[in-house]
Amino acid sequence: MPPSASTPGEPSPPKSHLTLWILLSIVAAIVVALLFPHFASRLSLGGEVFLSLLKMMVVPLVVSSVMSGILGLGDVRKLGIPGGVAVLYYMTTTVLAVVIGLAAVNLIQPGVGTVSSETVESRSSGMGAPAVRQAVRESLARESGVTEKDISRALPQLAPTAQDKPDMGTILHNLVLMLFTDNLFKSAVETQLLPLIVFSIIFAGMLTTLGSRVDSITLMIDQINHALMNFVLLLMKVAPLGIFCLVAARFGAAQASGEFLDELRQTGWYVATVVGGLGVHMFISLPLIYWIFTRRNPYLFIYHMGQALLTAFSTASSSATLPVTMECAQANAGVSERSTEFVLPLGATINMDGTALYEAVAAIFIAQAIGFPLDLTAQLTIAVTATLAAIGAAGIPEAGLVTMLIVLNAVGLPLEYIGLILSVDWLLDRFRTTVNVFGDAVGAAVVDRTFPVTADQPVPALATAAAGTAATSSAGTVSPGSVNSRTAVPPAPPAAVDPARPAAGDTKS
Ligand code: ASP
Repeated sequence: MPPSASTPGEPSPPKSHLTLWILLSIVAAIVVALLFPHFASRLSLGGEVFLSLLKMMVVPLVVSSVMSGILGLGDVRKLGIPGGVAVLYYMTTTVLAVVIGLAAVNLIQPGVGTVSSETVESRSSGMGAPAVRQAVRESLARESGVTEKDISRALPQLAPTAQDKPDMGTILHNLVLMLFTDNLFKSAVETQLLPLIVFSIIFAGMLTTLGSRVDSITLMIDQINHALMNFVLLLMKVAPLGIFCLVAARFGAAQASGEFLDELRQTGWYVATVVGGLGVHMFISLPLIYWIFTRRNPYLFIYHMGQALLTAFSTASSSATLPVTMECAQANAGVSERSTEFVLPLGATINMDGTALYEAVAAIFIAQAIGFPLDLTAQLTIAVTATLAAIGAAGIPEAGLVTMLIVLNAVGLPLEYIGLILSVDWLLDRFRTTVNVFGDAVGAAVVDRTFPVTADQPVPALATAAAGTAATSSAGTVSPGSVNSRTAVPPAPPAAVDPARPAAGDTKS
């Protein structure tokens, strides 16, 4: 999208060519993987290092950004309306995505007459529910690098002893329990973000009521948050290389197994239906929502979010992409910190439009392929469970495949036929993660419009702390720029330590 496409008041596109470099590295990686699959699959080390660097940022960034967001509001009660809008947005867009998925799969009917009965049999033979869980555990372990034992612990529905047919009450019960933890550190170790977000909101909300007694800790949280975001900027400099290795290794491994193109041919209509549905949501419905609420060019917004979207495609993880999503939304797309700091961490965990759409399509595709009749009630059940399953899915590779078991169970579809979609799931995961991340970004832009104007006013505790620190620091070791940028702090002497973060709407060079 050329820069001239922006309307007055819109942030201009980033000046750097990073997005282009990342795009080129993805294309080059796929070409290398198809031509030299064995060489490409050996590049996994570079990809794993890059992924680890991203992942190690996630827990500290989520905690510091959510806390910093609450502190920026000055009072947790001001979160009421934006928080409500965020939840409403998550629910509406997820349901919309499911409806698009249902329409696409019923229209295209990718499972009817496209999968031979031998394939159906060979993909399911001998697999009972325990064997299916085993296959999904293996697939998840391969994609995420987490051991199977840890997967069983973190995802009880995959444990060998899991209950096979949880009812709707159990699903809701588990979703509520996901919000809380009896051990914060355990949640951090297992990257369970929801309890960390709940804790951060409560803790920071409480800080806002304690006045000047907690000035130092308030200031510290804000500075940690800014420092971490600068770390992300640094990390993005090696993104093209890391992403090249990640994509080359994964596509190379698929090609080396000799079945990649064959698998694609077999399930081509299914892949096309999922990707087509995701495309409609990504390029029509979400842009429309963005435009209605912001009156800005949605395609320019996609361009601004480009680095995050390409990182999502490469990592297949919303959580690992979160640092880049926050960076792009703030620095490139001009979404305010107060909005990105809530909406993106929460969205990366519970708002998964792409996953919901995929789950609905996959369940009905399996039903079509095995000739399992689905009436309107069954389709409605799929819609509801796909929405809940997407909320429950973690932002990690192939998490959607795990929660798919809930959807299949709900309508009595035999779990063993998940084998029909297993082989291409790693590829579809990339497309749905990209849509998940874009949905979060649009959510941040929409919610940005709903913050009370007073939220921009100085936070008394933070402003006092900043002024005090700036005044007492020798030659200004802390600058106002290092304090929450929403706080109005009087100018201070030149700073020795200034993170020099670009203001929201500024462009990076
Ligand atoms: N990988 C997706 C994500 O991180 C979740 C899924 O498997 O659908 O957003």
